[in-house]
Amino acid sequence: MEETMTQTLPIIVAGGGIGGISTALGLARQGFKVLVLEKAPVLGEIGAGIQLGPNAFHCFDWLGVGDTARAMAVYIDSLRLMDALSAEEIMRIPLDDAFRQRFRNPYAVIHRGDLHGVLLKAARENPLIELRTGLEVIDYEQDGKSVTAALADGSKVVGSALIGADGLWSNIRMKVVGDGQPRVSGHTTYRSVIPTELMPEDLRWNAATLWAGPKCHIVHYPLSGWKAFNLVVTYHNNASEPVAGKSVTAEEVKRGFEHVHPMARKIIDNGRDWKLWVLCDREPISNWQDGRVVLLGDAAHPMLQYFAQGACMAMEDAVCISNELATTTDIEKALAIYQSKRVLRTARVQLQSRWIGENIYHPADGHAALRNSIMRSRTPEGWYDSVDWLYGGSGIDGAFGASTASHGTWQTDLEFA
Ligand SMILES: Cc1cc2nc3c(=O)[nH]c(=O)nc-3n(C[C@H](O)[C@H](O)[C@H](O)COP(=O)(O)OP(=O)(O)OC[C@H]3O[C@@H](n4cnc5c(N)ncnc54)[C@H](O)[C@@H]3O)c2cc1C
Repeated sequence: MEETMTQTLPIIVAGGGIGGISTALGLARQGFKVLVLEKAPVLGEIGAGIQLGPNAFHCFDWLGVGDTARAMAVYIDSLRLMDALSAEEIMRIPLDDAFRQRFRNPYAVIHRGDLHGVLLKAARENPLIELRTGLEVIDYEQDGKSVTAALADGSKVVGSALIGADGLWSNIRMKVVGDGQPRVSGHTTYRSVIPTELMPEDLRWNAATLWAGPKCHIVHYPLSGWKAFNLVVTYHNNASEPVAGKSVTAEEVKRGFEHVHPMARKIIDNGRDWKLWVLCDREPISNWQDGRVVLLGDAAHPMLQYFAQGACMAMEDAVCISNELATTTDIEKALAIYQSKRVLRTARVQLQSRWIGENIYHPADGHAALRNSIMRSRTPEGWYDSVDWLYGGSGIDGAFGASTASHGTWQTDLEFA
């Protein structure tokens, strides 16, 4: 009787972001009923770009959205690192056939709305998934056989498990871990998406380009079939309060970049409708689970965007947890195995994201000269070796529980966000 009840109860997913919707798709693929509870009145994503490593494409295929996601992406030729003071190229990493063959998938960029839309369409078409909006999970209780989620409107929902995919400010993390507010990094990011005709013609590169300068960096890449360019500029200004998505003037954005080369500055000059985020992350932790409740995505391992891997890690989590829940009827055990498979890999990406900001993106003077010298001496193959642990095809085969072993020193990887 109890076993039957557990089987008919849905798995509750709190949060309908990239992590939550991917999880719903993965669980439904394994035959589970899923109920997604999203606090926003409408499911969606902010209007900006996102980079996708090959590991994201492994996930798309596994989740059954590989073809539609591929159709939305822009396939860039390279990752380019520029010196923001001299406007000289430091290194260019080709993302050609050699890259694709090695990692069994491409590296691409995509509009967040398009990516979320692909996932959402597949979820809406799946009869095992129910999506409800305007519902915030504020608490939960469990009795060893089921979990009851308490919602902000006073109602309650019962499920066989509760997955907290509720992002950086997760309510569920507050109860599972109770480690207070996220860490404010002091780095401020401004985002803008501009029509391609506003991007300076000599900078319309088919690349994810990063201009690294003292305490600041600028990123740009094409989006949406080359109709737009994504601009992300970051300034280490010791901001002390967390902010998300606040509109700011172009003058405010420009103030942090007066010291960079005019060529880099003109990228910012063309930005429109800038929005500001003060970036937050957390220390890696090894316990994301409380019985039948577990964390996923940014709720479990929020990171700075410097490795361009937060959403990729959330999708990997989704594949891993769906696999584990399908392997055993012991839900607590499945969640414990999911956690043990994911903790080291995501901790590494969290810490490495910070390291990259400090040592690749923002150094000045002699530190920057050392960066340039080291980066210039790297071959594409050397770089591919250094990210093999992250992009290497063995991840999906082991459902992303392996691949933490390093080639070379663990800090020397490079990514742009
Ligand atoms: C500037 C910037 C650039 C980035 N670039 C990249 C990149 O290039 N590549 C990459 O892979 N990653 C990138 N990231 C990281 C990526 O955006 C995040 O890691 C990813 O979106 C996290 O997804 P999530 O579903 O875990 O959380 P979220 O996207 O935060 O989704 C959480 C959802 O839960 C909802 N919610 C919150 N609380 C509750 C609740 N209590 N009950 C119900 N619903 C709730 C929210 O409304 C939201 O819809 C970037 C991040 C930033 C800030």
